Amino acid sequence: MAVKVAKFGGSSLASAEQILKMKQIIDADEARKFVVPSAPGKRFPDDIKVTDLLYALHDAALRLDDTKEIYQKIVKRYTDIRDELGLSIRIEEYLEKMYEDIRTGASEDYAASRGEYMNGLLIADLLGYDFIDAADVIFFNENGTYDAKKTLAILPGALKLHERAVIPGFYGSLPNGKIKTFSRGGSDITGSIVSRAANADLYENWTDVSGFLMADPRIVDGPKKIDVITYRELRELAYMGATVLHEDSIFPVLEAAIPINVKNTNDPKNSGTMIIPAIEGRDGAKEGITGIAGKKNFTVITIEKDGMNAEIGFGRKLLGCLEKFGLSYEHMPSSIDTISIVIADVRVRGVIEQLIDEIHAQCQPDSVEVSSNMAIIATVGRGMIRQIGVSAKLFSALAKNHVNVRMIDQGSSEINIIVGVENDDFEKAVQAIYTALV
Ligand code: ASP
Repeated sequence: MAVKVAKFGGSSLASAEQILKMKQIIDADEARKFVVPSAPGKRFPDDIKVTDLLYALHDAALRLDDTKEIYQKIVKRYTDIRDELGLSIRIEEYLEKMYEDIRTGASEDYAASRGEYMNGLLIADLLGYDFIDAADVIFFNENGTYDAKKTLAILPGALKLHERAVIPGFYGSLPNGKIKTFSRGGSDITGSIVSRAANADLYENWTDVSGFLMADPRIVDGPKKIDVITYRELRELAYMGATVLHEDSIFPVLEAAIPINVKNTNDPKNSGTMIIPAIEGRDGAKEGITGIAGKKNFTVITIEKDGMNAEIGFGRKLLGCLEKFGLSYEHMPSSIDTISIVIADVRVRGVIEQLIDEIHAQCQPDSVEVSSNMAIIATVGRGMIRQIGVSAKLFSALAKNHVNVRMIDQGSSEINIIVGVENDDFEKAVQAIYTALV
């Protein structure tokens, strides 16, 4: 029988009413054997996510501030859900233990992880599924990175012992047994890891939107939905700011080529967005583009030196300067005698002057220019660059809208055209590209 892993986000589990929608979805398909829940999220726009309450509780305990009010809010979230669902699980015992642990020095990650842990207990009770504590089956290295080797040595066997189970998202354990969380939104990663370990046929990621849109709806009016997208295209869009899925959630399923279906808990009939390894036989034949995403606030460092193209080791020296300051870069478009390095403003803030001095010392350039406040826009689509006229359309749309293009990088990725524009032109540029190409 097919196996599906169903991960539900915080807004899909924010209240008893939402949790019942989840139950309906699970009950509708026997293949949904493993459920990965987030902590209860926002019930309305001004609401506070349980995870944020837990961080606040930990912070208050650390500063020896009054913790009671925050704790009571957390208690109410869980007891309301339990009571409205008519469950009899004694969630108070888990809450009290957590409160005691936090007041006696438990870590911030431990505090944050309890959101998923307790929601998982409630959901397992409601569904009649077994509960698997993620701390026993998902592992981190000592340096805090995910330990795929250990996890994949233990988790698949653990899942086999259960016909159906709930595995809370967002956390696992360190070699010393202490709790460690992924970065925010990390339950998506847990869902992906569980899918890989279960060798699932499908990883369903249930959220509060019907998949990915071709552009940010705050910028473009009513953008179209993306029906199918490849992992690689999604990586490009996600890293550029399309935030429906955690940007690292592709990696665990990549090797096993498990498709991910992003779906809407509030509109389960909608097919959502299907994320797949590659589109067989159609690569390059697709009309149009897949999506547009972008981010503001980049710094561009442009280095000029006559004869750069003939100087052996120039690139190494330049990148050595970045390495010295622990900097990674986003793009590096180059021509014969110039090379530009694009780095997020936040990364270079505070070190830019020293970095420029280092570049002068190591590379002896003719000039180094720095300009900040640049936005980067990625227009993504498979086979796009083989379609005659896509670039022409894109750039003439920008010109027509008086957007000054400060950088172009079609780079080595075949699925991407990157342009850099002024921060102030960002929205206008995204609208122009969408109108011209979609
Ligand atoms: N609850 C965690 C957060 O708010 C993890 C998640 O929902 O994926 O970031």
